[in-house]
Amino acid sequence: VLLTGERMSLLLGGVGLRPGKPSVVAGQEIGSAGPGPLRIQLCSVAGLVPPEFCLPQLAAGWFAVCPDPSELLGLDASDVAPVESLPVTQRESFAAVQEHYYQVPPQIERGWRHHLIDVTGRVYVDMINNVTVVGHGHPRLAAASARQWSLLNTNSRFHYGVLGEFADRLASLAPDGLDTVFLVNSGTEANDLALRLAGIHTGRPGVVAILEAYHGWSVATDAVSTSVADNPQALVTRPDWVHTLRAPNSYRGDFQGDDAGQRYVDDAVTTLQQLAASGARIGTFIAEPYYGNAGGIPLPDGYLRAVYDEVRRTGGVCIADEVQVGYGRLGEFFWGFEQQQVVPDIITVAKGMGNGQPLGAVICRREIADSFAREGYFFSSAGASPVSCRIGMTVLDVMRDEGLQHNAREVGATLRAELEQLQALHPMIGAVHGMGLYMGVELVRDRATREPAVAETAAICERMLELGVVVQPTGDRMNVLKIKPPMCLTASSAAFFVEMLNRVLTEGW
Ligand code: PMP
Repeated sequence: VLLTGERMSLLLGGVGLRPGKPSVVAGQEIGSAGPGPLRIQLCSVAGLVPPEFCLPQLAAGWFAVCPDPSELLGLDASDVAPVESLPVTQRESFAAVQEHYYQVPPQIERGWRHHLIDVTGRVYVDMINNVTVVGHGHPRLAAASARQWSLLNTNSRFHYGVLGEFADRLASLAPDGLDTVFLVNSGTEANDLALRLAGIHTGRPGVVAILEAYHGWSVATDAVSTSVADNPQALVTRPDWVHTLRAPNSYRGDFQGDDAGQRYVDDAVTTLQQLAASGARIGTFIAEPYYGNAGGIPLPDGYLRAVYDEVRRTGGVCIADEVQVGYGRLGEFFWGFEQQQVVPDIITVAKGMGNGQPLGAVICRREIADSFAREGYFFSSAGASPVSCRIGMTVLDVMRDEGLQHNAREVGATLRAELEQLQALHPMIGAVHGMGLYMGVELVRDRATREPAVAETAAICERMLELGVVVQPTGDRMNVLKIKPPMCLTASSAAFFVEMLNRVLTEGW
């Protein structure tokens, strides 16, 4: 088959190549077509008219008789993901404890902006990928990473421009005084390093965390994670250097009502004073500055100011875990701690920083970073690699150029208003938490008792998938729909999500 300029040779169905007995020879022109799209299909079974498209489950069968013509035409071979006969979750090599979504997980092989696409071509609105801040399949990110891979990918013991550029950029995003940056690979690593820095710097072993929180899976971050949804043993296996504050959950915590906020503040300060009096030697306080794991609930007004003051008064430092809530997602604020009007001593950030590339950072005061020298030097092989730094820079460029923090604020506000309207229609929606593109829809069986609608939340998420929306439960009771989509979510996709939720809550699940 010959392809020349605008006159393209055409293999007509009627001409047909018979196996072993070609009816055309190489170089022979067998037809022509004008400019415009041309569809070429090979078929090795005479008389068979293959379909133009088929279900992915049948692709292997059709490929056997309809070989991919790409190579013949000098094109790249088609990129078709095979349909897995056995879901990865059922494979023996897959650790059964590895968390996964859905009873029958769709095989997702592509993404575009705030959409996920499975192998059957079904498109879903993605309401939960908070890591993918700039969206799936972003061409600028793909190009920047491909170029950096082709130039160099090594480690931070060598010097390359983008390393300093990215560290400066992160420091410039942090408040004055937080000017020193460590680059790692994940939120767990960032929190682990932050805990170690705080412990070395203060020389005090005690750590205070709040209940119903998650900070990572490593030994140290698991020790300070108190969420029983992530680790059912979290409250019984806690080492003695970890202490906790009551969950400041103003919707369903121990204190409710108008004065709940002040009671949480007073309670936290009293607990810290009691810990100091008991000789606990607290060196570190770690918390999400916006209560993410509990479902996107703001901390009570003045909570972090009071707690930070008390922790510092007795010689401790404060870590703000911004892994989920920071980096512009709240819309109005770039960092979650801005909402509480405080400045931490150490910021940890990850997730969205790399849009899925393993990337995390600790940003702190110089003297805290310098303390690490007492225990040697710091090095993370891939943490500050040229590819990671380049991707980190590109994510920030895209966020700026596409106005994604602004989008989080605008679309988030519209979405919140629509969800509140839905709350007026459906008693099951006990509360709409959060701001920007970080929200939680808390589902209850009874608004008065606030009994969590646990089984219903799981079933609603399964039904939402059938309707084209990816959304999942969160919180210690798994009764909050977590809403933290790519920050490029559009108002129309947000409206689609609300419409589908309305349909499920109206029709049942
Ligand atoms: N902190 C918070 C608040 C998180 O939500 C998470 C991840 N869910 C982590 C830390 C751990 O981050 P990673 O999964 O990147 O280790």
